[in-house]
Amino acid sequence: MAVMKKCGLLGSSLVLLLSLTSRSLAAPIKVRGYITSLPNQQSLAILDDVIAFDAGTHFELQSCATTGQAQNGLAVGLLIEAEGTWTAPHHFTAQKITCDPSQFTREISESAYFQEEPIDTEKLTAGTPTQLKADGELLVLADAPQKLWTARFTETSAKSSDQRILGSQIHYRGIRSTDGSILASGVEFGPPAPADAYKNPGDITIVPATDSKTGTRLLEFRKGGKVHGRMKLFPVNEVQDYVKTLGLGLLPKAADFTKRPVEFRFFVVEDPAINAEALPDGTILVHTGLLGAMQNEAQLAFVLSHEISHVLQAHHWHEVHDTRTKRVLITIVAIAGSYYIGSLASYLGGIGLATVVNGYSRRIENQADRLGLQNTIDHGYDPRSAVGFFRTMVERYRQRSTSTIWSNHDSSLMRGSFLTVQLARQYPQERFAGAKLSTPAFEAMKDAMGPVKIE
Ligand SMILES: [Zn+2]
Repeated sequence: MAVMKKCGLLGSSLVLLLSLTSRSLAAPIKVRGYITSLPNQQSLAILDDVIAFDAGTHFELQSCATTGQAQNGLAVGLLIEAEGTWTAPHHFTAQKITCDPSQFTREISESAYFQEEPIDTEKLTAGTPTQLKADGELLVLADAPQKLWTARFTETSAKSSDQRILGSQIHYRGIRSTDGSILASGVEFGPPAPADAYKNPGDITIVPATDSKTGTRLLEFRKGGKVHGRMKLFPVNEVQDYVKTLGLGLLPKAADFTKRPVEFRFFVVEDPAINAEALPDGTILVHTGLLGAMQNEAQLAFVLSHEISHVLQAHHWHEVHDTRTKRVLITIVAIAGSYYIGSLASYLGGIGLATVVNGYSRRIENQADRLGLQNTIDHGYDPRSAVGFFRTMVERYRQRSTSTIWSNHDSSLMRGSFLTVQLARQYPQERFAGAKLSTPAFEAMKDAMGPVKIE
């Protein structure tokens, strides 16, 4: 509508029309993300994308005042939306820059299962924690939640020292501070996820097998002993073993405290899409396309940690049970046992697991990102590399948006810039100086894998 109105006004002046045609008539392009740096007085950056502005740029940032702000009210960490045009790769010229004023006032209300014990054991023992690490966030506790906390802690602390609240659920509410932490106004605890949360829909099981005729190693999707689909495993043992070892080594402590024992299994499947899927029962499928796009072990550690979080947070179960209107209809179409699955994405969609391929809501994906990043840090990796992966994705998918969760441009820009800002806020720069980036085992895996198709 806005574009049409402009055309009408400009109709009387041909010269003006011509000079503005390229800017005004093209569909307005919007870029959204968190400001990761302010390179100079005339630009801001969201990851590698530089957004340039000038005297003619219209700013609407007054209501998003932050501390340490630069000119125009811009500050690193601010979530903005720029409207304008791409003038060169990574270079955007903004006609308008706006912010969502509720980003520092909107109440955050989230739930998560504890994947690790919260920090600061001494304060916990005293029953008066002031800060709590949960859900990949730093929760700053006001006075009110402490009574609740103390009650819960006393109730559970009599058990083994390892099992205080691991696996339990936390509900928290609060406002994000400009330092990235969340000032919590309410914290409650709930039980761990029920055993059913770690079952695949339709009781499908995934069983490694070998084709008796060809000797091909494969995965069989079975229901009640019947084979519903088969897919080929990537045939190089070194690659399978490497991913399995890395994945098992990344499991957070909560993996041992789920109500139903979760057997985490990592398989590399032949699929060119840059993607990975976490099934509710702990089966994690890593595509050859994803492995091929990985630049180092830290990146892969982040992606695997993200997928592990989908399982431990019982995301699929919550999606089916928390939102009734979106209840997933499970239709399992039996196919003859000897057929291979043509498309993993449509097969998983057919058994009620479309979200593990195409991604959950942004809220849930963000939770898996936060927890994945925390897990990557906890295991000694350089988390900045995880952000590097999103940069790669932004670059690779600049011209198109694909449907899979790891290869969507807009989503990569938002997720990558959010994690960059969170890291900068919550950790001093030098914290990751000696952190792991890659290993000889990763390089050996890459060599063993050879070139693979990436889509
Ligand atoms: Zn995900």
